[in-house]
Amino acid sequence: MSEHEPINHQENLVEFEHHRLNADQTPRPARTTGSVVKSGIKGAAMSIAKKLDGATRTARVSALPAPRKTPSFKDHTLFQSMQKYRLIGDTVGLVDPFFKEHEARLGATTQMDGKTLINFGSYDYLGLNQAPSVGAAAKAAIDQYGTSVSASRVVAGERPLHRALETGLAEFYGTQDCVVFVSGHATNVSTIGTLMSAGDLIIHDELVHNSALVGAKLSGAMTKSFAHNNMDALQRLLVEMRGDYRNVMIVVEGFYSMDGDMPDLPRLVELKKRFGAWLMVDEAHSLGVLGKTGRGIAEHFGIPSRDIDIWMGTLSKTLGSCGGYICGSKELIAILKFQAPGFVYSVGMPAPAAAAALAALELLKAEPERVARIKANGDLFLAEAKAAGLDVGTSIGYAVVPVIVGDGIKAVKMTERLLARGVNALPIMYPAVPMKAARLRFFITSEHTADQIKQAVKVTKEELKIVSSLGGVFKRTPKAQPV
Ligand code: PMP
Repeated sequence: MSEHEPINHQENLVEFEHHRLNADQTPRPARTTGSVVKSGIKGAAMSIAKKLDGATRTARVSALPAPRKTPSFKDHTLFQSMQKYRLIGDTVGLVDPFFKEHEARLGATTQMDGKTLINFGSYDYLGLNQAPSVGAAAKAAIDQYGTSVSASRVVAGERPLHRALETGLAEFYGTQDCVVFVSGHATNVSTIGTLMSAGDLIIHDELVHNSALVGAKLSGAMTKSFAHNNMDALQRLLVEMRGDYRNVMIVVEGFYSMDGDMPDLPRLVELKKRFGAWLMVDEAHSLGVLGKTGRGIAEHFGIPSRDIDIWMGTLSKTLGSCGGYICGSKELIAILKFQAPGFVYSVGMPAPAAAAALAALELLKAEPERVARIKANGDLFLAEAKAAGLDVGTSIGYAVVPVIVGDGIKAVKMTERLLARGVNALPIMYPAVPMKAARLRFFITSEHTADQIKQAVKVTKEELKIVSSLGGVFKRTPKAQPV
């Protein structure tokens, strides 16, 4: 469970808006001071107290303290704790698996240090980042509109591609409207932060993405989490708390990238309707992956998309671009287009990014066989991994299959050893997942071949056996536990 102290978000927005409205330097009326509006003895007393206060302040300011050293970021607690992890890694001889340089476009394969590897570290789920038509659309947009749209769409105006992409996404979801943001992360932060405020309640799955948590914190609403995919726990919270709050928002993901599983959408819809709550579904990893034609979790369950109030997704994964979107009713989109700081006060999406996402969406609609291929590949990976005795937790296949190995050191060691065997799969460890549930995450795409999948599972099984038999710190690794 998590509770967040309310912050005065609304006040900040009002202040922010005030600055914007006064950007033309129109002189503001002078502020009326308390001493002018108050009268009588009380007013005079207040005025004297204020003057005394001012005198104390002046005395304090003129008595400057001794110079104080600006702290070094070396002593920052975050840097210190990072150093601790680095030291542990160095002590047991681990190679840092992060920020590796790739010399090629990420897909079913990649290239590192001049070597071609089978790649399971890309979100290009349907291979659309490889499609010539997507690249060509981005290049044509640069030629016509340049690489930047310069400022917020509110002031720098629209390019035809902005509305074309939004209309395309709204049509794909079957919603009234859509708005795109320049970042998927900012989409969640700004949307949740704008719609919710003090007096409201946000209830989220404990594994929702960091961006939703940051949005919840920003909103100032009361925030509670429920155990992953546990609809009974969600129902209990709603029974207990719904009556005490004005607006309630339930936030879940369509497909969870840490575990490769999905929520019970029919039950979520039933609960949201019974308790009069908004349901927000983050489709970052389910657009193009779930449903026969890739329309996501609603299509998967055969539920009308209008039963979900807020559809959120990213353009950086299946749609081979950068940015995020919200699809929903025209009123919801109107609120966000005029009130969400991440939209109003941030630059509009660059034309080439919008063009790439639009071309990718067209390709997704034209070639649903890509969606069938990722499902088949996910099924194959899952079946092979289970047959090899690997711990895949609660994964149902599709785009993500984790292999849970135990502690973080073991996971990092596995990544290093797999790289040497020609396979790229990244480790995930605490705090992203529970301490003893560190894992390798295999992101599967429609473009992997059956041979690549079988080879990766075979190598993972062989290397895990070796790493588990290593002495010292590896020997003390507790048995892996499912999340
Ligand atoms: N939501 C989820 C579920 C995500 O996994 C991510 C990023 N991985 C985001 C939002 C943020 O999207 P982006 O990286 O496009 O900013």
